[in-house]
Amino acid sequence: MRAILIDQVDDEYTVGLTDVDPAGLPNGDVTVDVEYSTLNYKDSLAITGASPVVRRFPMVPGIDFSGRVVESESEEFAAGDRVVLNGWGVGETHWGGYAEQARVESGWLVPLPSAFTTRQAMAIGTAGYTAMLSVLALEDHGIRPESGPVLVTGATGGVGSVAVALLAGLGYDVMAVTGKADEHGYLMELGAGEVVARAELSGPGRPLGKERWAAAVDTVGSHTLANVLASTVYGGTVAACGLAQGMDLPATVMPFILRGVTLVGIDSVNCPRARRLEAWNRLATDLDVGLLEAMSVEVTLGEVLDLAQRQLDGEIRGRTIVKVES
Ligand code: NDP
Repeated sequence: MRAILIDQVDDEYTVGLTDVDPAGLPNGDVTVDVEYSTLNYKDSLAITGASPVVRRFPMVPGIDFSGRVVESESEEFAAGDRVVLNGWGVGETHWGGYAEQARVESGWLVPLPSAFTTRQAMAIGTAGYTAMLSVLALEDHGIRPESGPVLVTGATGGVGSVAVALLAGLGYDVMAVTGKADEHGYLMELGAGEVVARAELSGPGRPLGKERWAAAVDTVGSHTLANVLASTVYGGTVAACGLAQGMDLPATVMPFILRGVTLVGIDSVNCPRARRLEAWNRLATDLDVGLLEAMSVEVTLGEVLDLAQRQLDGEIRGRTIVKVES
């Protein structure tokens, strides 16, 4: 089968598109013909080796995929079922989606909602599912459209684009933060009501600022997240899911102890199955598939290798679908 394979021998990190014997697929009770995968930020870290995402070699990267079951020892899935997988260490410690077949544990798979094609599932991908988890977290903390504006950072990125579209579709007033001055039109098309320049939030800031947004979905971390917290209104909630600016958090406790702000962590990898099903079902009802198409491009497995560094450089907009089936 065609696959991207990452190897590391004597500290030499190699990545390439190659033929791999399916007999080498890892253990699992369900084998899937992979139709689509995507390029997530974490995949780009794995491909470039910029961060130690891959923890077992050789590794097929790709932290998510959609496709059809070809063989199943699980009662829950039968040949022909359409499935989607996000996380669980796939593409990190267990061979992932950048191969024509994957073998995984049935408990990791989610039945694909009938609203989506396998291609749309990967237009959403882990980025879009994480955006939905972030929105669910805000809702859990009482945030509603009438609470006030919701800020989305890294707004033209994968998580950001889906978060903007979801929140706008749900009736929120969305403030989109971007470093791409030429993408304001794109963000407005997704439903943003206002665009904020990245530079306004990316430098060192004060412990507390003017109260500007009721909630936020932050995909970038570092000074940006500190400033997001500092300008969240009394009682507001910030969902932190990313580190595109950095993994540090140079903040103070002032927003928490003086304004009762809540900081919620979002993890997509080990998120319990019930919550995943909830997220995918909500995506099926709440996400405008027309907007999903507008934010997506499709590439081949071979093209992924060149795109990874561009993603880490912040040059990619929206979602990148990877067509895996030949
Ligand atoms: P993308 O590369 O698609 O988007 C990241 C966006 O962040 C960029 O498009 C850019 O948006 C902005 N950005 C890039 N560099 C910087 C910088 N130095 N300072 C401020 N903003 C920057 O990645 P994804 O959307 O796929 O992922 C976003 C983040 O979320 C990543 O850190 C990823 O690891 C994380 N993530 C976490 C998950 C979890 O389970 N918690 C799951 C999925 C993703 P713009 O140009 O518009 O400013």
